[in-house]
Amino acid sequence: MNVTIRKFEEKDIANKIKWINDERNNRFLHYDLPLEYEKTLDWYNRNKGRSDRFDAVIEYNGLPVGIIGLLNIDKKCRKAEIYITIGEHELKGKGIAKEATKLLLNYAFDTLDLNKVYLFTEKDNVIAQKLFERLGFIKEGLLHDDVINRDILVSRYVYAYYKRDHNQSGATSWRKYYDPTPIYRLNFELNGNTFFIKRDDLYPISFGGNKARKALLYFSDIASGDYDCVVTYGSNSSNHCRVIANLAASKNLPCHIISSVDDGKESANRKLSTLLGAYVTYCNIAEVSETIDEKIKELKDNGFKPYFIMGGGHGNIGTQAYVDCYEEICCYEELNNIKFDYIFLASGTGTTQAGLVCGQILRDDFNRRIIGISIVRRNPYGGKVVLDSVNDYLISKGMSCVISDFINFIDDYVLNGYGTCNSSILRTIKQVLVQDGIPLDTTYTGKAF
Ligand SMILES: *Cc1c(COP(=O)(O)O)cnc(C)c1O
Repeated sequence: MNVTIRKFEEKDIANKIKWINDERNNRFLHYDLPLEYEKTLDWYNRNKGRSDRFDAVIEYNGLPVGIIGLLNIDKKCRKAEIYITIGEHELKGKGIAKEATKLLLNYAFDTLDLNKVYLFTEKDNVIAQKLFERLGFIKEGLLHDDVINRDILVSRYVYAYYKRDHNQSGATSWRKYYDPTPIYRLNFELNGNTFFIKRDDLYPISFGGNKARKALLYFSDIASGDYDCVVTYGSNSSNHCRVIANLAASKNLPCHIISSVDDGKESANRKLSTLLGAYVTYCNIAEVSETIDEKIKELKDNGFKPYFIMGGGHGNIGTQAYVDCYEEICCYEELNNIKFDYIFLASGTGTTQAGLVCGQILRDDFNRRIIGISIVRRNPYGGKVVLDSVNDYLISKGMSCVISDFINFIDDYVLNGYGTCNSSILRTIKQVLVQDGIPLDTTYTGKAF
């Protein structure tokens, strides 16, 4: 689509007047209507030299179709307000506004080096809200009875978009569909310590969990490339496979799961994966890796373009998901004026822990410790895998590696391995369920807690 933006010029005044005076366009605009030529020319001459605003024209296939710009450009706080109107009515709904906004955001973040672009939209202006939400703007609040439009007091939403989200290509448009998962303070207390819990189990895809948070980023990577099916692996009880099967089904992508033969009992996760249309290939545990290679080769031979996701969502994209989660935790702290001394988590493949640690490194935020409680691996191997994931990620960001001092990986609770549990863990799970109504599980969260 050929959309460009350029600076507003005197020759654009006639178009602006026509567009703004068009009743199909101006319901939510706050101009002194009708616009007239002399006054608009005067407005143009008064404003053209100002550095606290940027007015531009949107062109579609070389023809002017609307206006866009930044108001109240604040160099000190590095923010500005965005506005946009597509004036040519028959060209609405074609995605021109979206493309033009992206171009203006590039200008705002890259050229003006702003940190934040915000806007106000009347509560009833649902079309604008959808547009900005699709672009990754976050609704930050409702301002009651905020302006007068046609003699009536109306409320407006304020939306904002941040530079830090702009540069994570692809991820944004997916991730921002969802609010941060909640953080609750528990009634449970121990030795005078208070506990908070981040409810990633409420992550809103397919029963949630860290696999859902990771999977969403993998699917935005898939969407940005040329792929037409997905291959992954996991056990019969894998949360990861369930979530991947769910997202693949939602995108109409065939999903192939490689799984080692197990006790034959069909878990709820496996039932769901099958229900969601995933194709499961069973093999002996020693042959998982070669079965994956064979499956990928077979698909390619048949003309497919498979996307491969490591078990558990392991890899830099999975790590990124928990860098994002770390950001959410920091946001919560800022909003609530609190600082957590420790973050504890259940550590399996170590991607979740690696993401949190990378978030800490990126923020230079070393006043707390992140403690991974191993649910299966023993040290030194388990801790080394976390460290490798951290360094893989840092290298991908052009940063230097860290040493093992950054990793706290504790294997004291592994017991007899994956999924094993004891009476003290069961007592803890029961206590949290009774006091806080939150169900922990015996394999991961119960052990870590
Ligand atoms: C997979 C999983 C973990 C472990 O996450 P890793 O990133 O593999 O360390 C923890 N809790 C739950 C519920 C999981 O499904």
